[in-house]
Amino acid sequence: MSKLVIVGTVAFDAIETPFGKTDKILGGAATYIGLSASNFNVDSAAVSVVGGDFPQEYLDLLKNRNVDIEGIEVVKDGKTFFWSGKYHNDMNSRDTLATELNVLEHFNPVVPKNYKDAEVVMLGNLHPLVQQGVLNQMTKKPKLAILDTMNFWMDIALDDLLSVIKNVDVITINDEEARQLTGEYSLVVAAKKIQEMGPKFVVIKKGEHGALLFHDDNVFYAPALPLKEVFDPTGAGDTFAGGFAGYLAKTDDFSFENMKTAVIYGSTLASFCVEKFGTERMQNLTDKEIYERLEQFKTLTQFDIELS
Ligand code: AMP
Repeated sequence: MSKLVIVGTVAFDAIETPFGKTDKILGGAATYIGLSASNFNVDSAAVSVVGGDFPQEYLDLLKNRNVDIEGIEVVKDGKTFFWSGKYHNDMNSRDTLATELNVLEHFNPVVPKNYKDAEVVMLGNLHPLVQQGVLNQMTKKPKLAILDTMNFWMDIALDDLLSVIKNVDVITINDEEARQLTGEYSLVVAAKKIQEMGPKFVVIKKGEHGALLFHDDNVFYAPALPLKEVFDPTGAGDTFAGGFAGYLAKTDDFSFENMKTAVIYGSTLASFCVEKFGTERMQNLTDKEIYERLEQFKTLTQFDIELS
């Protein structure tokens, strides 16, 4: 089993979907990644920053799921990162209404001493310089560095982003962002171009249409489970990344074959995330629920065909 370092925002989110609206609730990339990865019982630590306005109970929530929070700095006189978004009727696309960086603006990440030798590093959505700052603190080269990002950082820090992308093994990114990053419409061509930027493995998330994993000339596709209820897609991408990273850290096998299974775990966990607002569904997820959904996944994707 590998140790896992998770970097990303720990945030307040205000979300609007066709099904309702929330005030400031718990959100953030590292929160979703941590909750998702916690289902694999790996040693994990979150590196992030919050303000004095951030409730202790939210931090305890991560701690109670065995995510080490020593690396989450609390800036007493600062305000927590705030993001607000509104989903369109298709629930697959959204508009960002507000991004207030607040304490993130002057954040210097500190990886807890015990985790500087972690084998797996999950660089969640955050300023690329912070992502690089975490990589720089690792005392030995991680066996697997995974990076997630979004259009916001492409817009304001593209050069820094391209520099850190060079140093990772896997990138997880959504289809729209892959197109923005490469200027290519075809996701196959976009994935090839991203591989040339550094990462040998490229995961392109397509929301309710599943996820693609690219490596050399190999492609693997996992659909998303068709769900009766989708209330709030926020955090689905991070939950996917947390499941992907958590499974790989647990199994300590970073081959393409094993990454296929990691994609299935990521998709399975993301399917829970969207069923309730914010992190609610992820807070008390059980192994039994995950197992049952993996069975559904198998049934959905298995078929026999005789090729002559
Ligand atoms: P996802 O739906 O997986 O893209 O992730 C949504 C989460 O990302 C929310 O909980 C936000 O707090 C967080 N988020 C939104 N914008 C940013 C940003 N620019 N940098 C880091 N995290 C962000």
